[in-house]
Amino acid sequence: MSIACALINHYQPPMTRSKLEDEEIGVQVMQLRQQKNKIQLLLEENNLIRRFSLWEIINHTEIIDGFPIMTQEDLGDLTFGVFQLKRARSYAEERCSTTNLTSDVAYSVHRCKIIPNLIRIPTQSAHSNRVTYHPTIHFTDQAILGWWCDCFTGARFLGCCSHIASAIWFLSYQRWQTQQRQMPSGEYKNLTTDSIQVSDFYDSSDDDDDSQRYSLA
Ligand SMILES: [Zn+2]
Repeated sequence: MSIACALINHYQPPMTRSKLEDEEIGVQVMQLRQQKNKIQLLLEENNLIRRFSLWEIINHTEIIDGFPIMTQEDLGDLTFGVFQLKRARSYAEERCSTTNLTSDVAYSVHRCKIIPNLIRIPTQSAHSNRVTYHPTIHFTDQAILGWWCDCFTGARFLGCCSHIASAIWFLSYQRWQTQQRQMPSGEYKNLTTDSIQVSDFYDSSDDDDDSQRYSLA
């Protein structure tokens, strides 16, 4: 094994090289690492996490024009990882009960009654149908201001969990696509296709709520 590794190290080109933007990303990561999650504070100060009466259920079409439009690269800048984006489609398809996300789908969101540009999208855990998370997003029509989720990794502001990534991906990117995807992501072989469609510039990172993180079973 060590001989094989030595040969690879000597004769093969490196898998990745430093890029010009690496330094900028590094500075950004260090800034975000220090940052407290302002959305969590906002929710706690207004008692919004547990008071369901402060949220109204609407269809996503009511807020879609006030939500920023983003590219896959923009999304990668938010998530700092491809793992969350690879999961985004399957969460959205499950919420919409269809794999055709460019059609007229029913995707409801909860809009805060006292902060109208604050929404949350109840999302069932991928590992337990008894658990529902509440990814919450603060936004303007130009930018995502912040997010918070009550899942295991949802409070971080350096990157985000898959539930947040799915909601932002669906509202800012997927709903503006006109081409129906040919293959649904419900089949495991297509998860490979998903991973190719997202740039691997960003490192994968962990996510979600239990020890089955990387299981396909
Ligand atoms: Zn989450």
